This record gives sequence, structure tokens and C-alpha cells, in this order.
Amino acid sequence: MPNARAEMSRIRLAGLPTPLEPMPRLTAATGGPELWIKRDDCTVLGGGGNKARKLEYLMADAIDQGADIVLTAGAKQSNHARQTAAAAAKLGIDCRLLLADSVDGRGEAYAQGGNIMLSRLFGAEVEFLAKGTGLADALDAHAEALRAAGRRPYVIPAGGSSVVGAAAYADAIPELFAQMSDLGVTFDRIVVATGSFGTHAGLLAGLAKMGSSIPVTGVSVGRSREVLTPLVTALAEETLERIAPGVRLAEDAVDVDDGFVGAGYGQPTPEMLEAVRLVAQTEGILLDPVYSGKAMAALLARIADGTFAALSRILFWHTGGSQGLFAYDEIFSFANLERTAADPQPA
Ligand SMILES: *Cc1c(COP(=O)(O)O)cnc(C)c1O
Repeated sequence: MPNARAEMSRIRLAGLPTPLEPMPRLTAATGGPELWIKRDDCTVLGGGGNKARKLEYLMADAIDQGADIVLTAGAKQSNHARQTAAAAAKLGIDCRLLLADSVDGRGEAYAQGGNIMLSRLFGAEVEFLAKGTGLADALDAHAEALRAAGRRPYVIPAGGSSVVGAAAYADAIPELFAQMSDLGVTFDRIVVATGSFGTHAGLLAGLAKMGSSIPVTGVSVGRSREVLTPLVTALAEETLERIAPGVRLAEDAVDVDDGFVGAGYGQPTPEMLEAVRLVAQTEGILLDPVYSGKAMAALLARIADGTFAALSRILFWHTGGSQGLFAYDEIFSFANLERTAADPQPA
């Protein structure tokens, strides 16, 4: 029986620590608090992204359990699916991805390019789910069928957001604190995209474990604040039980901003497009259309509307996903991306 409080096993896949960097030209463009970035887009596995931290623990767990195939699910342009495919390739385990048709109105590139192309390149078997199929149910059914066929599947939930995945994100906090101490900086707030919310919940658990009161804003890419808040709270508390029994989450720790979803998950917004453009043209950093672009749109808007006026230094936690830009090539057209006069001049 796995002991809930035992040290979790881990395989190094992410190339940690990821860089912690200032964004001076983006800061100048906003005229607000000093902006810094934690580069989890630069994990080294399969093009990078936040799932690499989770997969260090999830894949170790899969191997501990003797799995010969990993099974996971997501949207068609799932970055998590791509990174899982890369991890499975590296470790010599089969990988099957169940991809849902959850984003209406997108073109050929969305259906076959970007992350799907890369997942196939990493050798994963890609299966498309019928519209409306629940991801968790589909994973259960496929795992059962694989077991019946004599395979040993390990199921990773969508986004890798089990307690194991969230615990991996809690471990990013001591990494961050070591870098803050080396660089002599502190932050008044962390802003991060939140989807399957393992990253958000894990960061909160890690901060609570270290006794830190740095607030975290999770920018929703789909669900409402009302729906997400109790889910994030429950996962953060469950993660704390595992990694720091007895430590509780502060009453108001879970802060969800759901004002930047637009028409829905995976649906582009003008604010996302502008945020992706601005960060590319001020810092040479690629965001993504589904997660980090919307999270940055929220950060920029909250600076502009005065919400963050009292803060002096904010950390944007980059979760990766730029491979998804190629699935949205029609909206990142030349006409949409021309420099605006408002941009700061090169230093
Ligand atoms: C999965 C993902 C997120 C969201 O992380 P969760 O832990 O699922 O909330 C954010 N950004 C990118 C690029 C992702 O792929």
C-alpha cells in the first residue's frame, strides 16, 4: 500500500530550476509595478511547459506501479498531452492520448497542427473523443479495456492535476524562494493561468507550507470564479495534507480572476492577442493563446484598472504553451500584429 506521507518518487525531466527574470521593457510599457517572470515555459522536456514538473512525479509513480502505457486526456491542443507524450518517449513507455473536440469554430491547424502534430511526433497514439464525452469517463473506460487486454495502464487525469501533480508544483516554491534570495527580490503577488488548477493549488500549498503570505491570482481560462474557487481550495488542502500535514490554507488564499475567459476555453480574445504581441515585442518571450496569453491579459488589465496599484513587484508565472500559437495561426496574422505607437522605444 502506498503510504500517503511517504516521500514521493521522482524522475528528473524538467531541467530545474527554471529561470527567474525581470521584464524591464514590459514594465516600462505598462507604467505599473515591476514585472518579473518565472520561466516554466523553459522546462526542458518536449518543448517545455508547466506539465514537466508534474510529470516528474507522475511518471515516477507510473513506473513504480509497473505501468507499460500511460493514458491521459485533454483538449485537442493540450500542452499536457504533448508533454506526456514526450515523457513517455523518453522513458520508453507507450502513450495514448484521448483528445476532446471541446473548442468550436477553429480551423485545420487547430484540428491537426500545433500540439497534436508534436504529440504524434513523440510517438503517442492519438484518439479523438466524440463531442460531449467526459474526459474522466473516457479515461476510465480506456484503462479498463487496456487492462482486459493484458496491459498495465497508468491514468494521468487531464492536466496532470492529481494531488501528485499539485505536490510537484508545491516544490516549485522552495526553488523560487532560493532564487529570490540569490537575486535579493521579493514579490507582492504571483499571477498564473489556471485550468485544471493543479498548478494554482500546488503553488498555494507550497506557499502555505513555507509560511509565506505572497498572494496568488489564478486567472481562469474557462470556469467561473464560483465554480473554480472551491475546487482549487479542496485540491490545495488535499495537497497540504500530503506534503505538510497539519498546515492549513489561509481562509481567503484562493483568488480566481475569471474576467478574461472571453467566449470560452480556447476561444481567442482581443486582449489575449494584444498581451501575446506586447510580451513578444517587449521581452522576446512567447506566450500562448489559451493560457498564458489570457493570464497576461488579466495582469495588464489589472495594472491598468488600478487593482494592483499598491504593489511594487509582481511575478508572472509563465506556464508555457507557445506550441499552441501554430494552431491559431489565422489570428496571429501580420495585420493583427503590427507594432503600436504606444510601445516603448528600444533601450
Ligand atoms: C495546462 C496549462 C496551464 C494550466 O495549468 P493547470 O495546472 O492545468 O491549471 C497553463 N498554461 C499552459 C500553457 C498549460 O499547458
